[in-house]
Amino acid sequence: MKISDILNSGRPTLSFEVFPPKRSAGYEEVAEATEAIAALHPSFMSVTCGAGGTGSSRYTLRIAANLRDKTGTEVLPHLTCVSSTREYVRKTAEEYKARGFENIMALRGDIPKEGRTCWDYMYAADLIRDLRQYGDFCIGGACYPDGHVEAANKAEDIRHIKEKVDAGCSFLTTQMFFDNSVMYNYLYRLREAGITVPVLAGIMPITNVRQVETSVRLSGTYLPPRFKSMVDMFGNNPAAMKQAGIVYASEQIIELLANGVNHIHVYTMNHPDVAERILSNISELLGR
Ligand code: FAD
Repeated sequence: MKISDILNSGRPTLSFEVFPPKRSAGYEEVAEATEAIAALHPSFMSVTCGAGGTGSSRYTLRIAANLRDKTGTEVLPHLTCVSSTREYVRKTAEEYKARGFENIMALRGDIPKEGRTCWDYMYAADLIRDLRQYGDFCIGGACYPDGHVEAANKAEDIRHIKEKVDAGCSFLTTQMFFDNSVMYNYLYRLREAGITVPVLAGIMPITNVRQVETSVRLSGTYLPPRFKSMVDMFGNNPAAMKQAGIVYASEQIIELLANGVNHIHVYTMNHPDVAERILSNISELLGR
């Protein structure tokens, strides 16, 4: 089933993101954790992909196929292009198509510290255009409520998001944010720019203090005082930090749903217990 059909069903959706192992040694553990997350019956699950070029999507495909075949969950595999050749992308897309996948999340990926190894793709929009030729995929793209870290300003970033939508992207998922007003403002600006596709709110439950630094580095997102107080007070107490992070994320979701933001995508970091606790906090809101 296409993700666009799930999103356009008129009901709120809750989807979960997981990541694949980097090597075969961790495969069983990741497969087990992701199957446990699928057992919560999310609207769909996404599986991230490394940005390393050739071969980086191998475990994405394995985990995605395992989830779909074993649990029947609709899966959205990610595909990055920053270090990929056109030939690699074509073969990967053909493999997804042959295995019955109807959805792909098209990403550029972060530019490696040591620089690009391949220049076939400059931006995600180029990947989206190619994927449109390789199959009837429903394609998703990333967007950034605080602006992408490389963009000169938010207006320029939104112009580039519009290019992705015009290239054939059917929905967008946001980078994490911890202040819902940033999201409401962003949604307004997207709509003002003529972007009308569904936008999924990406929610990251912060369950340990190390995640705060990584999350801010990756997203450059604004940390509201309420969030900082939580980390200051509970950061040294792992159990308390985890509980507070789950409640914080749940409250963010409740407020988003109450304001008509109907599609929630939770970055689970492969933790079934975190996904389960968030779901139980909002299940009635989703009509379950
Ligand atoms: P693009 O849309 O190509 O944008 C990258 C930058 O280029 C932006 O600053 C944009 O404004 C600018 N730009 C775009 N077009 C033009 C143009 N024509 N001229 C000038 N500038 C332009 N990374 C992974 O490695 N694997 C994953 O699985 C993954 N999943 C993600 C899922 C979500 C929901 C999000 C939000 C991010 C994810 N990322 C992932 C991170 C993402 O790959 C990085 O943020 C990356 O730096 C940008 O990817 P993009 O697809 O948004 O790129």
